[in-house]
Amino acid sequence: MTAEPLTWLQRHPEQRLAPWAAWDEHSRGRRFAEAPPRLRGQFQRDRDRIIHSTAFRRLVYKTQVFVNHEGDLYRTRLTHSLEVAQIGRTVAQSLGLNEYLVEAVSLAHDLGHTPFGHAGQDALNACMRDYGGFEHNLQSLRVVDELEEKYADFQGLNLTFETREGVLKHCSVRNARRLGELGQRFIDRTQPSLEAQLANLADEVAYNNHDIDDGLRAGLLDMDALQEVVLFRREYETVRAAYPRLQGRRLIHEIVRRMIDSMVGDLVTNSSLRLFDAAPADIAAVRARQAPLIGYSEEMAGHIRDMKRYLHEHLYRHYRVLRMTTKARKVVQALFEAFFTEPRLMPDEHAGHAADWEAADGADGRARAVADYIAGMTDRYAITEYERLTDPRRTPGGAGPPAAAADRCGGQTPPRPCR
Ligand code: MG
Repeated sequence: MTAEPLTWLQRHPEQRLAPWAAWDEHSRGRRFAEAPPRLRGQFQRDRDRIIHSTAFRRLVYKTQVFVNHEGDLYRTRLTHSLEVAQIGRTVAQSLGLNEYLVEAVSLAHDLGHTPFGHAGQDALNACMRDYGGFEHNLQSLRVVDELEEKYADFQGLNLTFETREGVLKHCSVRNARRLGELGQRFIDRTQPSLEAQLANLADEVAYNNHDIDDGLRAGLLDMDALQEVVLFRREYETVRAAYPRLQGRRLIHEIVRRMIDSMVGDLVTNSSLRLFDAAPADIAAVRARQAPLIGYSEEMAGHIRDMKRYLHEHLYRHYRVLRMTTKARKVVQALFEAFFTEPRLMPDEHAGHAADWEAADGADGRARAVADYIAGMTDRYAITEYERLTDPRRTPGGAGPPAAAADRCGGQTPPRPCR
């Protein structure tokens, strides 16, 4: 076995940032000029603005895989985002990347997510098909650029180009054309900063592992059947051999933490090799490349593909998850239809946007205002809004405890519409 290559941190413990990192002084700046922060770096300021945003607080009530009210112990978008940031920062340190930028991108990457996870996003995208579509990455950018209302001098959070570049993980070429310099890389097929590449993979490490953990907790996945997944089986056997009597939650956690460690270890080793080999002189050289430099070994990439396939088949398409996503789709569709037909059913602020944007942009503008309103909802708020619109016994202003609505839609009960 060959020795592992030294990481940037091991070679240069005294120099935090490698030449290929995103340095504050090389930032392409903010949309509106501002004086540099006094006590923080540029990306620390971005991170802080994200943490103080309204959209960030809402993540706590948004579904990852399990609807928020199904149980208190499952991941939500907030705890997911924190796990992404934590994994990303560890890897960033090893590779000499800017931890603060990775953290900012990780914490912001899901800000544009609809209620009810991917089911909600797919449903909203279907509703928006004739009006420009709905992409959650683009919506995350819209949240930080336009929708947050916090600062006297500008709309949005006025984040750096680098954080916005990282948030916009994917984008269709059609949408990229409208985004100017931020969309250019999707047209040129070049790369974003290494920090953005890393946040993207940290996202994957986090969700694959925590979905296994949550899936086992919910009883939708089974330890014996999971042996089919090489990454799981390998760590299962190691833990079993070392602790033959270990059971239950501690056994699961010991396996999951080792799986995270093996993915992170592979990511650091392989990315170090690629970085020292390519030795990009600076962030501009990173961006000019056609292929990413942050990545797993081929073997690990294959194992992760297998793991994802397994989760897709056995967790995301499990009948209990499908029942939940079917209900979610119904709620999102009904909300869109009601608000698009009569925008004045929305609270004044959103109804106002619908009128203004329709005047400027026709039906597309009206639909965008509705999509913004729905995308900003938490799971619980969406269900309550649905009830207000469809249940004649509910007061129109929505008095009544949201928790009661949530309880009635509990995921453990047989399928029935959320009313
Ligand atoms: Mg994510």
